[in-house]
Amino acid sequence: MDTNLPVSAHPRVVIIGCGFGGLRLAQALRHAPVQVVVVDRNNYHNFQPLLYQVATGALEADSIAYPVRKIFAGQPNFFFRLADVQRVDPARNAVVTSVGEIRYDYLVLATGSLTNFFGLESIERNAMQIKSIPNALNLRSFIFQNFEKALLTSDPAEKQALLNIVVVGGGPTGVEISGSLAEMRKHVLPKDYPELDLAAMQVILVEAGPALLGPMSAASQADAGRYLAELGVQVRLNTSIKKFENCRAYFSDTEFIPTENLVWAAGVNGAEVPGLPAAAVTRNKRVTVNGWNQVQGLANVFAIGDVANLVTDDMPKGMPMLAPVAQQQADHLAANLGRLLHGEAPRDFKYRNKGSMAIVARNKAVVDLPGNVHFNGILGWATWLFVHLLTLVGFRNKVVALVDWAFSYFSSDQALRLIIRPFSRRDVKDDQGKKSAERQTATAEYTPAPPAIQNAVS
Ligand SMILES: Cc1cc2nc3c(=O)[nH]c(=O)nc-3n(C[C@H](O)[C@H](O)[C@H](O)COP(=O)(O)OP(=O)(O)OC[C@H]3O[C@@H](n4cnc5c(N)ncnc54)[C@H](O)[C@@H]3O)c2cc1C
Repeated sequence: MDTNLPVSAHPRVVIIGCGFGGLRLAQALRHAPVQVVVVDRNNYHNFQPLLYQVATGALEADSIAYPVRKIFAGQPNFFFRLADVQRVDPARNAVVTSVGEIRYDYLVLATGSLTNFFGLESIERNAMQIKSIPNALNLRSFIFQNFEKALLTSDPAEKQALLNIVVVGGGPTGVEISGSLAEMRKHVLPKDYPELDLAAMQVILVEAGPALLGPMSAASQADAGRYLAELGVQVRLNTSIKKFENCRAYFSDTEFIPTENLVWAAGVNGAEVPGLPAAAVTRNKRVTVNGWNQVQGLANVFAIGDVANLVTDDMPKGMPMLAPVAQQQADHLAANLGRLLHGEAPRDFKYRNKGSMAIVARNKAVVDLPGNVHFNGILGWATWLFVHLLTLVGFRNKVVALVDWAFSYFSSDQALRLIIRPFSRRDVKDDQGKKSAERQTATAEYTPAPPAIQNAVS
């Protein structure tokens, strides 16, 4: 297949991925004397920090995604191909994609990350993940489907498993989704399901480490724990889920929580692309780069964002997998490509940490700024809303998000609870191109949990 890209007198920069890093880099190269070719398997940019709001019905999917071609309308050196990149062939300066081969002069990997299930096969097969818009819509549909099913069963143990939601991973995503589900239980579900005893519904947040929000300040960790407790979320620290099958999330061979709903927010790996030198790929599938984001062993291949493993003296474990890191590396690489084209020496990247934040519920958020500044509550919440609104791509998306948030705030309601991606109980190809069995457990296979062990979580 021919990708029909025009011949150009300028060098071609191929960017794989139009997430935070790829999008920013392509924009930064707007006036550079290069042809920019972006390849992504989706034709939209996905604003991942708000995925959990789509999953819990607070925002519509369209308001956190933006069509790539619309973003770049009017940028004459920009070309886009909707394709899955299957491998890189550095010896031939080519990438092999699902729509054909694309040659490059410079290649930039901006492929982000994939959910890391740590080799726990039953969890990969049965848990819900939250990395993409289809994942978020699946999660929303699945939870509401299970409430509908809970109405139909007269078996108390089955009902309990349908209502229980276990979230694994106490980072910002796990904390945010747990808080949001607890708010939904308080404000939305009693209106929709007056026949259900929602006091029986448990939201359980499980974290393997000793604290929530690992990289944030002790004050933020404590505030987040307190907010979740106020909302009735059960937090279990120093606890690992080892297996999830037959509607049971197991801590050990014998101890488990009965649940149909397990959300896996416990970790990510880099989304490495096959074909790179093996020595450049780390154990968690990130690609080792030098100070100017050049891939180890390849002169004209670079990596930015989540997939890039850049180790510095102050970041010995590599840069954090965060949107600002991807964006700052994109800006820096654009400047370095300019230097290379002019025969100048590139410069090393330095990360400017502008702080971090997490929202738990309305008027409940935590913010850490450089210089040990910490604040919380309504000020934290307003800061979180403001920053996310500002960084959403597209004016329409900002307006739609603002309207949805204002509606939820003043009505204590969420408009978005349609079951629009009902699950088929069979293996499907997910949007990341990997095989995943969405839900395997048929009601007929359901094994009620012994009540004594259910009590173990309360
Ligand atoms: C639920 C969630 C919440 C988050 N919350 C925050 C937050 O609050 N603050 C924060 O700073 N960060 C947050 N992050 C992390 C942040 O989203 C990432 O750090 C950021 O997206 C990384 O940008 P990137 O450009 O490296 O990759 P991405 O933004 O992930 O983009 C990668 C792109 O590459 C494409 N792609 C990948 N492989 C291929 C292939 N083989 N072929 C074609 N296309 C491909 C994908 O379709 C995607 O468009 C969150 C992430 C998640 C999942």
